[in-house]
Amino acid sequence: MKNPFETLEVWFVTGSQHLYGPGPLQQVQSNTDVVVAGLSSEGNLPVRLVSKPIVTTAEQITAVCREANASENCIGLVFWMHTFSPSRMWIQGLKEVQKPFLHLHTQFNRDIPWSTIDMDFMNLNQAAHGDREFGYICTRLGKQREVVVGHWQDATVQARISSWMRVVAAWHDHQNLLVARLGDNMRNVAVTEGDKTEAQIRFGYTVNGYGIGDVATHLENVSDADATALCAVYDAEYQLSENLRPTGERRADLKTAAKIELALRAFLTETGAHAFTDTFENLHGIPQLPGLAVQRLMADGFGFGAEGDWKHAALVRALKVMGYGIGGGTSFMEDYTYHLHPSGGKVLGAHMLEICPSIAANKPSCQIHPLGIGGKEDPVRLVFDAHPGDAINATVIDTGAGFRLIVNPAVVEAPPEELPHLPVARAVWKPLPNLEMAAESWIQAGGAHHTAFSYDVDAAQLKTFANLAKVEYQLIQ
Ligand code: MN
Repeated sequence: MKNPFETLEVWFVTGSQHLYGPGPLQQVQSNTDVVVAGLSSEGNLPVRLVSKPIVTTAEQITAVCREANASENCIGLVFWMHTFSPSRMWIQGLKEVQKPFLHLHTQFNRDIPWSTIDMDFMNLNQAAHGDREFGYICTRLGKQREVVVGHWQDATVQARISSWMRVVAAWHDHQNLLVARLGDNMRNVAVTEGDKTEAQIRFGYTVNGYGIGDVATHLENVSDADATALCAVYDAEYQLSENLRPTGERRADLKTAAKIELALRAFLTETGAHAFTDTFENLHGIPQLPGLAVQRLMADGFGFGAEGDWKHAALVRALKVMGYGIGGGTSFMEDYTYHLHPSGGKVLGAHMLEICPSIAANKPSCQIHPLGIGGKEDPVRLVFDAHPGDAINATVIDTGAGFRLIVNPAVVEAPPEELPHLPVARAVWKPLPNLEMAAESWIQAGGAHHTAFSYDVDAAQLKTFANLAKVEYQLIQ
């Protein structure tokens, strides 16, 4: 996956006013530069933080908000009222600002210098009330924002800024995202349906339909040499079952899988889509349900939803961007079957094929088995266990009145035994607080059987994401 943060910027804007005179204002600017430099060097920030000139008038405030709106690279702003900045000056700017913002409620000095404190110090360190004035006008204007409190050198504060940057980067990605639907939703299924126009209004992404024939055309054009070369990549990256190895009797099926991957990649490049869906019911011209291909595309950062599930394709993409570079992994997922043991229930999550190898505990094995449905040739797939760790399941549903984002943290465990007869990738987890309460709440909330599953994103980030989209958010834990 290409670094989605590379060209992005977050602007750091400090508010003040004229009354202090040029000396203190110069100090405010240089303190701001120190804070930005410190956050940039120590904060592990994924996105470049840019120190902007301090703003002291309504005209300057409105101008920087307009500049942010118009900037291609600016994905959000950090506001800080180092000194007092009367907030009626902020009304026009805040009314106009369209980029997400974080209100950093910090102070340049961590400690009060008890023995030397005087009114000069007090005047220069007024965030305690300056930021309350700013908060008031944001609330009165109904502005969604993140509020982060604490000293700027504190690791928790820096981590929150970093997390928020990841969310707004995913939000930025969503505003430019195309979800390509190959075929329709699985027949008769309700939860994967939804209002695509409303989704575009709320989340920003575009959902467009394509015929599977568009991929089939690319499939015809894939060269034998390219497919052979890709099979060699599979040989190197996975533990191939005997029959798929170079001299195995199913090697030709592996080559078909490679051709499907190359055709899908060509299709996604052609359309510019970074998320897609397919369905086993609309595969005319494609010999196998794409398993390995979808798994590898997810590992490269594409969002995916099976059975036409465009909402989860988009959500998986958002989580891929949010979690970029952390390394825990993110996948499309389905609550598949339960372990209802009295010692504590567990979920076995899997799908027919399409689980992302970014969550694998070990080198995946590459296998070929029949698929019970769809009437196609046997599909090649990667098989593995998900690694232990803390993760979340997230779902988006269309309630008919709008969208709802539901999140449930999970503790992923190694399967208690080997699963030698299960030919799909899987994850075993305990939902919080326990299976009974989690599933009851999930079902009452109308949560889907499909989810976006991630070790790299937390519930607080998804709450921010829901706020940006102005959709309902429900946390189950
Ligand atoms: Mn499914």
